[in-house]
Amino acid sequence: MRSSGPARFLCALALAAILVPSQSSAQQAIDERYTELIREFTTEEFFLTPLVDHLPASDVVPTPLEHLGYIAGTRDSLTYAEDVHDYMKAVAEASPRVTWTRIGVSEEGRDILLFLASDEATLESLDEHKALMQRLSDPRGVSEEEAARIISEVKPLYWATGAIHSSETGSPEMLMELIYRLAVDEGQFIRDIRENLIVMITPVVEPDGRNKVVDVHMAPRRNPDGTNPSRTVFWGQYVYHSNNRDGMALTLNLSRAITGTYLEYMPLVVHDLHESASYLYTSTGRGPYNAWLDPMTISEWNRLAHHEVRTLTGWGVPGVYTHDFYDGWTPNYMFWVAHLHNSIGRFYETQAARNAADYVLRTNQNRTWDRPNTPLREVVWSIRNNVNLQQSGLLVALNEVALNREEYLESFWTRSQRAVAKARTEGPAGYVLPADDRRPGQQARLLRLLQTHGFEVHRTDEAVTLDDRTYPAGSYVVRMDQPFSRGADMLLDRQFYSPDDPRPYDDVGWTFGALFDTETVRVDDVALLDVGMTLEEGPVRVAGGAVEADRGTTVAWAIHYAADNDLTRFRFAHEDLVLHAARESFEAGNRTFGPGSFILRSDENPADLGGMLEEAGQEYGFEAVALSDAPSVPTHEVALPRIAVMHTWQTTQNEGWLRIGLDEFGVPYDYISVHEVRDTPDLLDRWDVILFGPSVNSALQIVDGLGGSQPIPWEATDVTPNIGRQASSPDIRGGLGLEGVLNLQRFVEGGGTLITLTNSSRLPLHFGLAPGVSERQASDLWAPGGVFRARIPETESPLVWGFGEEIAVYFSQGQSPILNDGRPRPGTQVASEPDGSTTTRRSSRGGIDEDDVVQGHGRDWGQASMQAYRERQEEIGGGGGGGSWGGATPASRTLVRFHEDPMQLLYSGGLVNGRQLVSSPALVESRVGDGHIIMFSFNPFWRGNTLGSYAFVFNALLHHGHLRADQDEDEEDR
Ligand SMILES: [Zn+2]
Repeated sequence: MRSSGPARFLCALALAAILVPSQSSAQQAIDERYTELIREFTTEEFFLTPLVDHLPASDVVPTPLEHLGYIAGTRDSLTYAEDVHDYMKAVAEASPRVTWTRIGVSEEGRDILLFLASDEATLESLDEHKALMQRLSDPRGVSEEEAARIISEVKPLYWATGAIHSSETGSPEMLMELIYRLAVDEGQFIRDIRENLIVMITPVVEPDGRNKVVDVHMAPRRNPDGTNPSRTVFWGQYVYHSNNRDGMALTLNLSRAITGTYLEYMPLVVHDLHESASYLYTSTGRGPYNAWLDPMTISEWNRLAHHEVRTLTGWGVPGVYTHDFYDGWTPNYMFWVAHLHNSIGRFYETQAARNAADYVLRTNQNRTWDRPNTPLREVVWSIRNNVNLQQSGLLVALNEVALNREEYLESFWTRSQRAVAKARTEGPAGYVLPADDRRPGQQARLLRLLQTHGFEVHRTDEAVTLDDRTYPAGSYVVRMDQPFSRGADMLLDRQFYSPDDPRPYDDVGWTFGALFDTETVRVDDVALLDVGMTLEEGPVRVAGGAVEADRGTTVAWAIHYAADNDLTRFRFAHEDLVLHAARESFEAGNRTFGPGSFILRSDENPADLGGMLEEAGQEYGFEAVALSDAPSVPTHEVALPRIAVMHTWQTTQNEGWLRIGLDEFGVPYDYISVHEVRDTPDLLDRWDVILFGPSVNSALQIVDGLGGSQPIPWEATDVTPNIGRQASSPDIRGGLGLEGVLNLQRFVEGGGTLITLTNSSRLPLHFGLAPGVSERQASDLWAPGGVFRARIPETESPLVWGFGEEIAVYFSQGQSPILNDGRPRPGTQVASEPDGSTTTRRSSRGGIDEDDVVQGHGRDWGQASMQAYRERQEEIGGGGGGGSWGGATPASRTLVRFHEDPMQLLYSGGLVNGRQLVSSPALVESRVGDGHIIMFSFNPFWRGNTLGSYAFVFNALLHHGHLRADQDEDEEDR
């Protein structure tokens, strides 16, 4: 260690005297051994602060050193999730200032825990504080007097969450030490926190991934002479780094645990701990900020961040800064659970702890206005440095909120009030989901998701007419005069992202109604708020059951098909039933049944079919209609295919969202690697359908796979007991190989179905497996992840059964090839007309033809004087080419195409040079021999956001073997 000069030292002393108690005033013994080790593992004096340069001693509460045998941030030591939990439980056991509860269980069955630290009396009355925060979060029926009383009494909660990103290893170590300090430190600084706050700590949000990463990092230390894994292929069951992008769709157990816990405790701040920046980035983002968030929230971000930067910089710590990467736009991050509900969400990026070994860190950072205290050109970094900085920053933030508790609570109260007022100020009044939606199952699934977020859903008591449109009785309403209106608005509104804004950090468009293919009507008319409606108390479900025939013998039952995912779930859950799909629509029992509707004949099925369908109809939300005559319509049998989902060993990130979708709807599959395909000459013996989810961008990379001179194992051993669960191999090197390509070709030619999603479609394209289809370069296109309109030009193919003529799909230019089927593409001609680019205004809400709304303002501010001016102007309508067209060459059919009008192409997100994408094939089916290759350019399985598109793949599974629209007579079963 070295000192870096007396000036810095004096400055630090002066600040320390103000901000933290001196040793003498604390009058608390120091744990000498622990303190010695803190200093040993800290590489430089300036990576210590007065808050963490020592550890107070305790006679009753064990330190990490006493419990684990090492201190938090020990070189070469990382702690498994269970051991982190055991230590923190031991603290809770020993101290009345700490308690804990289980808030969830991971997909692999590990606990997700919440620890709470405060003073003894507060913890004893925890339920009262939770109830007061609930009261404050919903201003309806709370007077200003009551709010003032709550603000003076309640101890708000501040939630720190660690290790959602398993490769970012320091936070669980740090949080162990933090909870010890919160329990035992008698200094004024910590006492202020304890007496004014309830600190919530979830040390390991993703325990499955944590354990795998600890396995991989610790294996070489335990087994130095053996062959050890050198990379982490899986974290959790499904995805890795994107696990914190699940905050909107809530598909992962961890996301539901976090949201459920948030709604129960209503913490004022949610603070997520990450590692990627030098040395400590306390986030504010750089914008464009989310257009639905109360702008006050951004001010709070800055207040907290600048306080941390100022304090740590004052203590002489270099490289603490704010206002850096991340836009603050997309509400899918886990910590946005706070913003969806008027609290403050934030995150840190600390210099990475990696595998807990020391390393040389070099940086070359410009001295910008937001980062004048630059990190050093080079320095030795350690996991203890990481623990020091995270912990110091977090303690400073906790102390800031503790000392200014009432201000932060008043701000929360104001934001909650403004959220309720929103319906009548900035609008909209609400969203209506019409009772006659053509995909009621999708509608109900979306509404249940909103309910899981804590958003209220109402149902109209009678038919209502608004803006010249009549909505039937029983239509659903998401009111914007509810406390969490902003969160609901964020999910349901349209997004507009300008390319002139900083480069987006993630998706820029996500509108959930569109991606669920269910209609959500944004209603500005405040008359909506006075319509008679009733709050839905339980989860929204579609009514269903068996509709008996009036007369005659029931010879068959019919179930209308509108691509509802639950019908796929029903089919796979009832293998015993014999089902046929109607290849055309038909009329029966005074109803119209669309193509793909299920027909169940009484003579082919169990005797109690009616009773069984009554029960199943209620569970899956369909009506089975009894028919006294079998419909005279061509059909084929809906036989269950044998399905494989193929992965590459190179990345499981995006394909995990495919598996989570299949699992939700009970679709069984074998999970295989490219190696099994490479090594299985006769794939048709084992599978009917091979699903290849998103993988890597290059076909040759799929063929080559991972390289290297040493084997890379991914299997459970004594030193790596937590890996090899989803898939296992003694050596994951190598790819599909040319043998694998030939095996796939033989599989398809023999009658198999190969389905490729997004970039994996490059495999059949590159090897010419799909005749008539190629990739088209579109170098000037700018289309980051967003929602795009596409057309479904034909209805005959089983792949598009149940869909309408248009569909909104998720597309991201960086993730997918743009397909070319050789057909003319209307809408591509260069014109002086607007081309749909989102350059016309700043990033904001709405579509290209809509207006921005600034939250917290009246929606019509400034409009009256603009109106007179506007009246003299003529609006110029947009529009590009038009017309319709059929499929491509006979061997390939384009079943879904991006919209031909550049002004209509983008639904939500950002776009430049949309003419490069218009009319491009989005879903192509190629007939190869007796089989099919189905290529998606959009992603039908993206982060649980795209439930409206799942059924394109489900259709392929259900109608495997019958996919040709021009099916020969003799291939049909009647
Ligand atoms: Zn991270």
